[in-house]
Amino acid sequence: MKAVAVIPKKAKSAHLIEIDKPDLSEFKDGRGVLVKVLRVGVDGTDRDVSGGEYGVAPRGSDFLIVGHESFGRVVETGENVKELKKGDYVVATVRRPLGKSVYDKIGEQDFTTDDKYYERGISRLHGYMAEFYAESEDFIIKIPAKIADIAVLLEPLSIIEKGLKQAEDVQKRLSVWQPKTAAVLGAGSVGLLTVMALRLRGFEVHAFGNLPRRGYLNAELCAAIGATYDSTEKTGVIASTEKYGEYDLIFECTGFSPIIFDAMQSLNENGILILASVTGGEKKTDGVPSDAINQKFVLGNRAMVGTVNAGREHFETGVKDLALCEAMYPGWLARLLTHRVKGLKNYEKLFEILENPDKYKAIKTYLEVNKI
Ligand code: BGC
Ligand code: ZN
Repeated sequence: MKAVAVIPKKAKSAHLIEIDKPDLSEFKDGRGVLVKVLRVGVDGTDRDVSGGEYGVAPRGSDFLIVGHESFGRVVETGENVKELKKGDYVVATVRRPLGKSVYDKIGEQDFTTDDKYYERGISRLHGYMAEFYAESEDFIIKIPAKIADIAVLLEPLSIIEKGLKQAEDVQKRLSVWQPKTAAVLGAGSVGLLTVMALRLRGFEVHAFGNLPRRGYLNAELCAAIGATYDSTEKTGVIASTEKYGEYDLIFECTGFSPIIFDAMQSLNENGILILASVTGGEKKTDGVPSDAINQKFVLGNRAMVGTVNAGREHFETGVKDLALCEAMYPGWLARLLTHRVKGLKNYEKLFEILENPDKYKAIKTYLEVNKI
């Protein structure tokens, strides 16, 4: 079968390869599932992997099959597979419990303390940008057929679901927490999905991006579900609190790390700031008012939490939110799927759009490997 692979740490090395179709006999416990890939979404992580800045090949391989945002259909199941059958739509999780930490041992590998982590399509395990993949039932999430056309958004949404669950768990420190307002920093695909998840939870949501509001589809999508959008070129996050008040919850997903210090200064008493951007660069920031920030955190019992990856439960919550969003705002999620590239052989076009999102006005770009 065909697949798209890179040579990790080598920029622009994406190429088509021919490899053996996976075989369920490798799952000795009979719990293997063979999946025909329908769609694979791409994000900033894939951009870094194809740019040679991130990504590790599996041991004994000099290439890495890319793709971690999957969507497919079951074509074969092992004899001990219980919940899935041929024809089911599915999405696979990304990280596997192959590390040494206690979190890997208890199936919470998204909290691993190992520095080597195992993520399909990213680190040490081949990904999903291929005609087929095989995986254990443990790591496969069933998708209702009614949301098949937007389910490629589940993996990115799972990251947000984990972040929000983290916030909820941290805030259990308070006997009562009744958050009302939220700021979402970043209005790309992750930012928009965060706006959606927070609107479904009843928050008053204020999104921020660096592009002007006029004629910006992402800003229109915020408005369509009752959120505001402000361009930080015009209104900085700190200045926005004069309009909207300080925020009970702030979700950071811009990829621009200096903004976290603005966020820290825009948080309400007892509020929580969630950091979800993987910033691999070397940016440094001067002029941070550290006394004021520290004072604000201490006197106002504010909290900040970092979050990465997602476990099965976060994917499952994501499925519910996708379905609820379709019910509340029909057609909204499909508007995020702005760019479809057809066929594995057209991977170059896929990366071209991914690398130039502003030029193409792309929100979510995905490869259609096979038709739904
Ligand atoms: C993926 C996560 C992963 C993270 C770090 C993200 O793009 O969606 O699953 O944990 O990158 O590699
Ligand atoms: Zn990702």
